[in-house]
Amino acid sequence: MKESLDAPAERASAYDRPNASFDWEGQLEVRASAAMSCRRALWYAATGHESTPPDDAALTVMETGRALEPVVLNAMQRAGWEVEPADAGRPTKVVLQLTPTVKVTGHPDATGRMPLFGEEAVIEVKTRGPSAFKRWQALGAERSHPDSVAQAALYTYGLFGEARDAVVATMDTGDRTWDTEVIPAERVERALERTSEWLAPLGAHYATHGADPESLPERDFEAGSWRCRSCPFLATCLPGDAEDAEAPDEETPEVTDEEARQAVAAYVAARESLREPEGAKRQALDILKGWMRRQSSAKAELGNHTVSLVRSTRYAVDHKRLNALLDPEARAEIVTEQISESVRIS
Ligand code: SF4
Repeated sequence: MKESLDAPAERASAYDRPNASFDWEGQLEVRASAAMSCRRALWYAATGHESTPPDDAALTVMETGRALEPVVLNAMQRAGWEVEPADAGRPTKVVLQLTPTVKVTGHPDATGRMPLFGEEAVIEVKTRGPSAFKRWQALGAERSHPDSVAQAALYTYGLFGEARDAVVATMDTGDRTWDTEVIPAERVERALERTSEWLAPLGAHYATHGADPESLPERDFEAGSWRCRSCPFLATCLPGDAEDAEAPDEETPEVTDEEARQAVAAYVAARESLREPEGAKRQALDILKGWMRRQSSAKAELGNHTVSLVRSTRYAVDHKRLNALLDPEARAEIVTEQISESVRIS
């Protein structure tokens, strides 16, 4: 179901609502962007528990996302997409009743059509830092950012009343590269089912306990997870963890600022001392490559050395096509994740 907001106060609050609240009919109203959030956190929000406001860095991230949204949509239009952005002053409100007591509401970023073909589809716009952008391209939205797929599915059903292909458009905030992923209609349908299954126990909790702020649903995430570390209710839910987050990590060896400064200076000095020989090596190899290309054999004796022209073939994976062809479970078996840590100095 869709409706437009009219009153100025309503418009102003359209984008700054709590993630969950009780409406005038006594329904539990959850924001579409938070539909897959921790259910205990949604309960805290709805029942008026005190939350920790976002810090300056988090506010900057949020403001960057909002500011870049029209930039992404303009770029899509230039690339041939037919795009209809949301009217910022009169956004279309989508309301979807997911359980007898829970409804999800939100405001789609835009709708549009793919170049050359396609029916009108929801476009969900996201901005990501460089590594999260690469992760999204490699893993696909359902695996890297399932919340955004749930959001697109909720808007699709809210606007069109049926499953349709939906589009997640993402911009890398580092170099402003952008890309799109089309979520086929059958996966949009599954995303809606997953969201309904996720919120159903919260609806049951409400039906059993009423709007009791003291009776809390189970925690959905473990202490120490990134979800909890960025949760505005961490101090209420896991007070010990909130203190730990402020205390220094005992297992990390203590390094003074002066030691860190000396390490940077040592690194830069070592890098500078290597730069000249590395440049000379590269120049010599370029000369030899040109010479070897004119030889009849891939190996030649020169002085007391054997010089070889080595050819290797590299294979590239088109992640976009892979993501379109495979469902998230199959992709998870093919594209696996490895985490490494390193320090970069620039
Ligand atoms: S701290 Fe973690 S478990 Fe507790 S409400 Fe927040 S996300 Fe949920």
